[in-house]
Amino acid sequence: MSSFEITARGKTHPGRVRKGNEDALHIDEDSRVFVVLDGMGGAMAGEVASGTARDVIAEYVRERRGDKEARELIEAAIQAANNKVHREAKRRSDRHGMGTTVVACAIDDDHRAIIAHVGDSRAYLWRDGRLQLITRDHTVVADLLSKKIITQSEAEHHPYNNVLSRNLGSKPRAKVDVTDLPLRPGDRLLLCSDGLTGYASSEAIEQTLGGSEGADSIVEDLVELALRGGGGDNVTALVIDTGRTELPQDTQVIRTSGAVAWWRRRDMFLAEARKGGLCDSPVCSVLSPDEALEIVAGNLCEAIFHDLEQTTGINVWTYAENLGKGWFDQEGDYQILRDLIDILHRAARAVLHDIESTGEPYARGLDIAVTRGLTVAEMAIGGLLADRLRQVESELVDLRARKQQAESGEVTAQTLLEQPTVPFMSSTRVEPASPDVLRYLDRARTAAEQTLVRSGNRSGAREFIERAHNAACDPLRPAEIELSGREFLGDTSDETGVSPLFDAIDQARYHHLEAAARLDGDREICAAAA
Ligand code: CA
Repeated sequence: MSSFEITARGKTHPGRVRKGNEDALHIDEDSRVFVVLDGMGGAMAGEVASGTARDVIAEYVRERRGDKEARELIEAAIQAANNKVHREAKRRSDRHGMGTTVVACAIDDDHRAIIAHVGDSRAYLWRDGRLQLITRDHTVVADLLSKKIITQSEAEHHPYNNVLSRNLGSKPRAKVDVTDLPLRPGDRLLLCSDGLTGYASSEAIEQTLGGSEGADSIVEDLVELALRGGGGDNVTALVIDTGRTELPQDTQVIRTSGAVAWWRRRDMFLAEARKGGLCDSPVCSVLSPDEALEIVAGNLCEAIFHDLEQTTGINVWTYAENLGKGWFDQEGDYQILRDLIDILHRAARAVLHDIESTGEPYARGLDIAVTRGLTVAEMAIGGLLADRLRQVESELVDLRARKQQAESGEVTAQTLLEQPTVPFMSSTRVEPASPDVLRYLDRARTAAEQTLVRSGNRSGAREFIERAHNAACDPLRPAEIELSGREFLGDTSDETGVSPLFDAIDQARYHHLEAAARLDGDREICAAAA
């Protein structure tokens, strides 16, 4: 039912504030090469930089595409563009210091996407309803953030927010990050400038990419999103489609019959939750067993129903946020909440299994919709956890700064940021994971190993766990390794796309575990430093 048909559409717009457009894009469906650039420099230099780089890459690819592998081709084309922009910038004083970002995608005959980038223009992969960032911004703030010198909330309002740590044209040779991933039919790739990501939320981008329309109207909608979000910068979106797969079920049937079938089994859901031990969870300790079932399980059952029917009322996201907030506000332990969610998961699976046994044609689609709902709950709780982590981390940065100040008498986190050459920005410097993280990872690894080995895929399990472990320990190439881990998981997916949803849950769990470990570790450091 599925085959590769690579098509691409792009749109660039000056935005609502700026007069000129320093963004540029290039689409070559024959060579399967796609590029987005975002130029910078005074007067017209930004436009010259991005336009020149685009033309050099386009010409290079056209002339050499028969001689080189896709990866080699795209890297060489970008270096050629760098040379030209660099020479131009040196040759004319009014173009001195000009440069451009670049994000380029080449798709080879084996349907692998080679993604190369310099600067803060990004590539995203949209797969099975989820959006994943493939590139890592080369900005001063992103570097500070990844070294945990500043927090996420500080990063959002940082004065260096738009300062690139790398660009094309400023040096005789460009440092290019290249990653590749095997594509599947139904995947969508998005290349874009920061004028899109700066003015549209990733949730809105994810939803827009999931639309059933073609790439033409999706790029229109994406640009419109950025304009509605303020349009303070030039905006460029380029969408690459790989051919569509059909959705397994008619959503209308799930909204009606599916939702009713779920609601009819409310008592069963509560009974399964009781059997699973919900009433014994410390989260429910202040409630009587009947209250616990009604409030915790009953409300989730209703929230899932609202989401299925797409009617108003408490939805799963709000339910999970309320539950998680209440628990975390009492300084509750993450693992206990995690165990409670597992009980609810198992109860939902029992209900879905019962619906499936009736042989109703919508059962499969309902399974996907409910599982998706439960993934949303995981994400909401993960968000709360991340907030707490940021809070602890910002306290840590303060503590470190104060410690340094006491030692040297002058250096603070702020003065560090203000120095023109910041020592920790060297990209070769690698900070190993802390002993706490490693210890926790080992625990997570053992647990994951047991789960995966039980599922029967022994060698595959080991390989994935190895990769996930490496991803968590290697700050230099996390995206690349995580992608290969995901690719591996993807191999186990079935035609209807149910498995990727379970993969998503596993991924979410894994990240939560890691975050929880860091939270514990940082708390210990805080306590020791106080
Ligand atoms: Ca820009």
